[in-house]
Amino acid sequence: MSDASTSQNQGSPLIERLPADIQVSFEFFPPKTEKMHTKLWTAIERLAPLKPRFVSVTYGAGGSTRERTHDTVVRIQKETDLVAAAHLTCVGASRGEVDDVARRYWDAGIHHVVALRGDPPGGEDAYTPHPDGYDYASDLVAGLKNVADFEISVAAYPETHQDATSAEADLDNLKRKIDAGATPGYYPIVL
Ligand SMILES: Cc1cc2nc3c(=O)[nH]c(=O)nc-3n(C[C@H](O)[C@H](O)[C@H](O)COP(=O)(O)OP(=O)(O)OC[C@H]3O[C@@H](n4cnc5c(N)ncnc54)[C@H](O)[C@@H]3O)c2cc1C
Repeated sequence: MSDASTSQNQGSPLIERLPADIQVSFEFFPPKTEKMHTKLWTAIERLAPLKPRFVSVTYGAGGSTRERTHDTVVRIQKETDLVAAAHLTCVGASRGEVDDVARRYWDAGIHHVVALRGDPPGGEDAYTPHPDGYDYASDLVAGLKNVADFEISVAAYPETHQDATSAEADLDNLKRKIDAGATPGYYPIVL
Protein backbone atom coordinates (compact mmCIF):
# COMPACT_ATOMS: atom_id res chain seq x y z
CA MET A 1 0.00 0.00 0.00
CA SER A 2 3.08 2.24 -0.07
CA ASP A 3 1.96 4.11 -3.19
CA ALA A 4 -1.54 4.66 -1.97
CA SER A 5 -0.93 8.26 -0.94
CA THR A 6 -0.39 9.16 -4.59
CA SER A 7 -3.41 7.26 -5.80
CA GLN A 8 -6.79 8.58 -6.74
CA ASN A 9 -8.02 7.27 -3.40
CA GLN A 10 -5.96 9.74 -1.40
CA GLY A 11 -8.06 11.04 1.44
CA SER A 12 -10.35 8.04 1.62
CA PRO A 13 -10.97 6.94 5.24
CA LEU A 14 -9.71 3.45 4.38
CA ILE A 15 -6.27 4.74 3.42
CA GLU A 16 -5.95 7.34 6.16
CA ARG A 17 -6.10 4.72 8.92
CA LEU A 18 -3.42 2.43 7.49
CA PRO A 19 0.37 2.78 7.96
CA ALA A 20 2.03 3.79 4.69
CA ASP A 21 4.03 0.57 4.28
CA ILE A 22 1.30 -1.97 5.02
CA GLN A 23 0.58 -4.53 2.32
CA VAL A 24 -2.90 -5.87 1.80
CA SER A 25 -4.71 -8.41 -0.32
CA PHE A 26 -8.36 -8.43 -1.29
CA GLU A 27 -10.55 -11.51 -1.46
CA PHE A 28 -13.41 -11.93 -3.92
CA PHE A 29 -16.15 -14.52 -4.33
CA PRO A 30 -16.50 -15.95 -7.84
CA PRO A 31 -19.62 -14.32 -9.32
CA LYS A 32 -22.71 -16.46 -10.02
CA THR A 33 -24.77 -14.11 -12.13
CA GLU A 34 -24.21 -11.40 -14.72
CA LYS A 35 -25.16 -8.77 -12.12
CA MET A 36 -22.61 -10.11 -9.62
CA HIS A 37 -20.07 -10.25 -12.39
CA THR A 38 -20.53 -6.53 -13.11
CA LYS A 39 -20.31 -5.77 -9.39
CA LEU A 40 -17.06 -7.72 -9.08
CA TRP A 41 -15.41 -5.83 -11.92
CA THR A 42 -16.56 -2.49 -10.52
CA ALA A 43 -15.01 -3.47 -7.17
CA ILE A 44 -11.77 -4.57 -8.83
CA GLU A 45 -11.48 -1.25 -10.68
CA ARG A 46 -12.08 0.70 -7.46
CA LEU A 47 -9.63 -1.34 -5.38
CA ALA A 48 -6.80 -1.69 -7.92
CA PRO A 49 -5.37 1.82 -7.24
CA LEU A 50 -4.69 0.68 -3.64
CA LYS A 51 -2.05 -1.60 -5.17
CA PRO A 52 -2.82 -4.77 -3.20
CA ARG A 53 0.05 -7.26 -3.04
CA PHE A 54 -2.39 -9.73 -4.58
CA VAL A 55 -6.10 -10.39 -4.92
CA SER A 56 -7.62 -13.82 -4.45
CA VAL A 57 -10.78 -15.68 -5.39
CA THR A 58 -12.46 -18.07 -2.95
CA TYR A 59 -13.21 -21.75 -3.53
CA GLY A 60 -16.71 -22.99 -2.62
CA ALA A 61 -17.17 -25.78 -0.09
CA GLY A 62 -16.12 -29.11 -1.54
CA GLY A 63 -14.98 -27.52 -4.80
CA SER A 64 -18.49 -26.33 -5.69
CA THR A 65 -17.12 -23.23 -7.46
CA ARG A 66 -14.16 -24.97 -9.10
CA GLU A 67 -14.82 -23.69 -12.64
CA ARG A 68 -16.05 -20.25 -11.61
CA THR A 69 -13.05 -19.74 -9.33
CA HIS A 70 -10.72 -20.83 -12.10
CA ASP A 71 -12.29 -18.57 -14.74
CA THR A 72 -12.41 -15.55 -12.43
CA VAL A 73 -8.78 -15.85 -11.30
CA VAL A 74 -7.51 -16.34 -14.84
CA ARG A 75 -9.53 -13.39 -16.14
CA ILE A 76 -8.25 -11.06 -13.38
CA GLN A 77 -4.67 -12.11 -14.13
CA LYS A 78 -5.11 -11.60 -17.88
CA GLU A 79 -7.09 -8.36 -17.89
CA THR A 80 -5.55 -6.37 -15.03
CA ASP A 81 -2.10 -5.58 -13.66
CA LEU A 82 -2.99 -7.32 -10.38
CA VAL A 83 -1.42 -10.57 -9.18
CA ALA A 84 -4.30 -13.05 -8.92
CA ALA A 85 -4.27 -15.98 -6.49
CA ALA A 86 -6.64 -18.95 -6.37
CA HIS A 87 -8.00 -20.39 -3.13
CA LEU A 88 -7.81 -24.18 -3.00
CA THR A 89 -9.07 -26.52 -0.27
CA CYS A 90 -8.68 -30.16 0.83
CA VAL A 91 -12.41 -30.87 1.24
CA GLY A 92 -14.21 -33.50 -0.84
CA ALA A 93 -11.42 -34.35 -3.26
CA SER A 94 -8.59 -36.86 -3.55
CA ARG A 95 -4.99 -35.71 -3.68
CA GLY A 96 -4.92 -36.52 -7.39
CA GLU A 97 -7.97 -34.34 -8.06
CA VAL A 98 -6.57 -31.42 -6.07
CA ASP A 99 -3.22 -31.79 -7.83
CA ASP A 100 -5.00 -31.68 -11.22
CA VAL A 101 -6.74 -28.42 -10.27
CA ALA A 102 -3.38 -26.98 -9.17
CA ARG A 103 -1.62 -28.11 -12.35
CA ARG A 104 -4.30 -26.44 -14.44
CA TYR A 105 -3.71 -23.19 -12.54
CA TRP A 106 0.02 -23.40 -13.06
CA ASP A 107 -0.42 -24.02 -16.80
CA ALA A 108 -2.81 -21.05 -17.01
CA GLY A 109 -0.16 -18.77 -15.46
CA ILE A 110 -1.64 -18.64 -11.95
CA HIS A 111 1.35 -19.27 -9.70
CA HIS A 112 -0.04 -18.05 -6.36
CA VAL A 113 -2.42 -20.23 -4.32
CA VAL A 114 -4.13 -19.59 -0.98
CA ALA A 115 -4.04 -23.11 0.52
CA LEU A 116 -6.77 -23.95 3.03
CA ARG A 117 -8.22 -26.99 4.73
CA GLY A 118 -11.76 -25.86 3.92
CA ASP A 119 -14.88 -25.87 6.03
CA PRO A 120 -17.13 -28.94 6.32
CA PRO A 121 -19.62 -29.05 3.44
CA GLY A 122 -23.14 -27.69 4.20
CA GLY A 123 -25.00 -29.49 6.96
CA GLU A 124 -21.96 -31.22 8.48
CA ASP A 125 -20.70 -30.09 11.88
CA ALA A 126 -17.27 -31.65 11.97
CA TYR A 127 -14.54 -31.75 9.36
CA THR A 128 -13.73 -35.20 8.01
CA PRO A 129 -10.76 -35.55 5.67
CA HIS A 130 -11.38 -37.23 2.30
CA PRO A 131 -10.02 -40.84 2.57
CA ASP A 132 -7.55 -40.22 -0.28
CA GLY A 133 -7.21 -36.50 0.24
CA TYR A 134 -4.96 -33.98 1.94
CA ASP A 135 -5.91 -33.99 5.63
CA TYR A 136 -4.89 -30.45 6.60
CA ALA A 137 -3.71 -27.27 4.96
CA SER A 138 -0.07 -28.11 5.79
CA ASP A 139 -0.45 -31.36 3.78
CA LEU A 140 -1.97 -29.38 0.91
CA VAL A 141 0.94 -26.91 0.96
CA ALA A 142 3.43 -29.79 0.68
CA GLY A 143 1.38 -31.35 -2.14
CA LEU A 144 1.21 -28.09 -4.07
CA LYS A 145 4.97 -27.64 -3.81
CA ASN A 146 5.33 -31.10 -5.38
CA VAL A 147 3.15 -30.01 -8.30
CA ALA A 148 5.05 -26.78 -9.00
CA ASP A 149 6.88 -23.97 -7.25
CA PHE A 150 3.75 -22.02 -6.31
CA GLU A 151 3.80 -19.01 -4.03
CA ILE A 152 1.50 -20.18 -1.25
CA SER A 153 -0.42 -18.10 1.29
CA VAL A 154 -2.12 -19.71 4.27
CA ALA A 155 -4.55 -18.72 7.02
CA ALA A 156 -3.49 -17.68 10.54
CA TYR A 157 -5.80 -17.11 13.49
CA PRO A 158 -4.86 -14.48 16.10
CA GLU A 159 -7.97 -15.60 18.03
CA THR A 160 -7.04 -19.36 17.63
CA HIS A 161 -8.90 -21.57 15.18
CA GLN A 162 -12.02 -23.15 16.68
CA ASP A 163 -10.83 -26.75 16.12
CA ALA A 164 -7.37 -26.25 17.64
CA THR A 165 -6.65 -28.01 20.93
CA SER A 166 -4.77 -24.91 22.17
CA ALA A 167 -3.31 -21.61 20.96
CA GLU A 168 0.16 -23.21 21.01
CA ALA A 169 -1.04 -26.14 18.88
CA ASP A 170 -2.53 -23.68 16.42
CA LEU A 171 0.74 -21.73 16.26
CA ASP A 172 2.60 -25.02 15.71
CA ASN A 173 0.23 -25.64 12.84
CA LEU A 174 1.12 -22.28 11.28
CA LYS A 175 4.80 -23.23 11.54
CA ARG A 176 4.04 -26.58 9.87
CA LYS A 177 2.49 -24.68 6.98
CA ILE A 178 5.56 -22.44 6.65
CA ASP A 179 7.91 -25.42 6.92
CA ALA A 180 5.92 -27.14 4.17
CA GLY A 181 6.50 -24.21 1.83
CA ALA A 182 4.04 -21.39 2.58
CA THR A 183 5.47 -17.91 2.03
CA PRO A 184 6.46 -16.39 5.38
CA GLY A 185 5.14 -12.94 5.98
CA TYR A 186 1.95 -12.86 3.97
CA TYR A 187 -0.95 -14.47 5.73
CA PRO A 188 -4.51 -13.47 5.04
CA ILE A 189 -5.78 -12.95 8.58
CA VAL A 190 -9.49 -12.82 9.36
CA LEU A 191 -10.16 -10.76 12.50
C1 LIG B 1 -8.24 -15.96 4.67
C2 LIG B 1 -9.14 -17.15 4.63
C3 LIG B 1 -9.68 -17.57 3.42
C4 LIG B 1 -10.53 -18.67 3.35
N1 LIG B 1 -11.03 -19.08 2.14
C5 LIG B 1 -11.77 -20.21 2.05
C6 LIG B 1 -12.22 -20.71 0.80
O1 LIG B 1 -11.99 -20.13 -0.26
N2 LIG B 1 -12.96 -21.85 0.79
C7 LIG B 1 -13.27 -22.54 1.95
O2 LIG B 1 -13.93 -23.58 1.87
N3 LIG B 1 -12.83 -22.10 3.15
C8 LIG B 1 -12.09 -20.95 3.24
N4 LIG B 1 -11.65 -20.49 4.45
C9 LIG B 1 -12.09 -21.19 5.64
C10 LIG B 1 -11.07 -22.24 6.09
O3 LIG B 1 -11.07 -23.30 5.18
C11 LIG B 1 -11.53 -22.66 7.47
O4 LIG B 1 -11.29 -21.60 8.38
C12 LIG B 1 -11.01 -23.95 7.99
O5 LIG B 1 -11.78 -24.22 9.17
C13 LIG B 1 -9.54 -23.95 8.41
O6 LIG B 1 -8.70 -23.78 7.33
P1 LIG B 1 -7.10 -23.71 7.53
O7 LIG B 1 -6.53 -23.68 6.19
O8 LIG B 1 -6.74 -22.67 8.51
O9 LIG B 1 -6.89 -25.17 8.19
P2 LIG B 1 -5.64 -25.88 8.88
O10 LIG B 1 -4.43 -25.05 8.87
O11 LIG B 1 -5.57 -27.24 8.29
O12 LIG B 1 -6.13 -25.98 10.40
C14 LIG B 1 -7.44 -26.43 10.71
C15 LIG B 1 -7.52 -26.85 12.15
O13 LIG B 1 -6.89 -28.12 12.30
C16 LIG B 1 -5.81 -28.04 13.25
N5 LIG B 1 -4.77 -28.90 12.71
C17 LIG B 1 -3.97 -28.67 11.64
N6 LIG B 1 -3.15 -29.70 11.42
C18 LIG B 1 -3.44 -30.63 12.37
C19 LIG B 1 -2.96 -31.94 12.65
N7 LIG B 1 -1.97 -32.51 11.94
N8 LIG B 1 -3.53 -32.59 13.68
C20 LIG B 1 -4.51 -32.05 14.40
N9 LIG B 1 -5.03 -30.81 14.20
C21 LIG B 1 -4.49 -30.12 13.18
C22 LIG B 1 -5.43 -26.57 13.32
O14 LIG B 1 -4.85 -26.18 14.54
C23 LIG B 1 -6.81 -25.92 13.13
O15 LIG B 1 -7.53 -25.92 14.31
C24 LIG B 1 -10.85 -19.37 4.55
C25 LIG B 1 -10.31 -18.96 5.77
C26 LIG B 1 -9.47 -17.87 5.82
C27 LIG B 1 -8.91 -17.44 7.14
